[in-house]
Amino acid sequence: MTGTLLKVEGLETGYGDIQVVWRADLEVRQGAITALIGSNGAGKTTLLRALSGLLPLRNGAIFVSGRDLAGASPQQFVEHGVAHVPEGRRLITGLSVHDNLMLGAYRRKDGKQAIRADLERMYALFPRLAERRRQDATTMSGGEQQMCAIARGLMAAPGLLLIDELSLGLAPAIVDQLVTTLERVRADGTSILLVEQDVGIALELADFVYVMDQGRTVRNGPADEIAADPSIIAAYMGT
Ligand code: ATP
Repeated sequence: MTGTLLKVEGLETGYGDIQVVWRADLEVRQGAITALIGSNGAGKTTLLRALSGLLPLRNGAIFVSGRDLAGASPQQFVEHGVAHVPEGRRLITGLSVHDNLMLGAYRRKDGKQAIRADLERMYALFPRLAERRRQDATTMSGGEQQMCAIARGLMAAPGLLLIDELSLGLAPAIVDQLVTTLERVRADGTSILLVEQDVGIALELADFVYVMDQGRTVRNGPADEIAADPSIIAAYMGT
């Protein structure tokens, strides 16, 4: 692992009059899988939305590969290599798997050949999607839809993939497959920032973990250190 891909300093954001994130500081290292954990309503989804330009900042800074992206639009985040896989997948009804994947590539300027090569790479990474490439994406199972949402994010050729709630509502066998696939994605050069309600899965997959509580990043550390902390186990793992 080398440099810092994403750096967030003193970030505050919210919705209208409601402030949700009061202070987030975090760093994603190149080549790492970083997880954000915390109780329901801690502000993890809200923070992730700010990190892809979907919510404006009230304060603080976001640097992507050293470039200040505070105030940038979602399109600009994508152009600077940040792709967001939203909670609930948000695939487009009436569009095939193929067309949903191609939507992920809509800001790319590196030509048809590179896009086609990535499409084939997605079908190799997710053979289930290859079998179903002509099917309406929203008629697939939850696990298949999650694969499609992740592949759509990867079609933007991002340096950093933000994933909101990887495992929510999915069977354990499917989650295991997704975990293995994301390890390959990381090995292929895409760093990952993951919001995950299942702390066991987050700790298994991630190298580094941030804990969020009441709108603040309150702790961080290597996953094995966080996993061994009795206060974390008591607070988030139900024992
Ligand atoms: P969960 O795991 O339950 O999704 P979370 O840590 O991701 O939790 P958020 O979804 O970011 O938390 O929600 C944090 C707070 O922001 C909650 O109190 C929620 O009610 C509020 N909130 C979320 N979306 C909106 C919105 N569109 N308008 C107003 N408040 C919102």
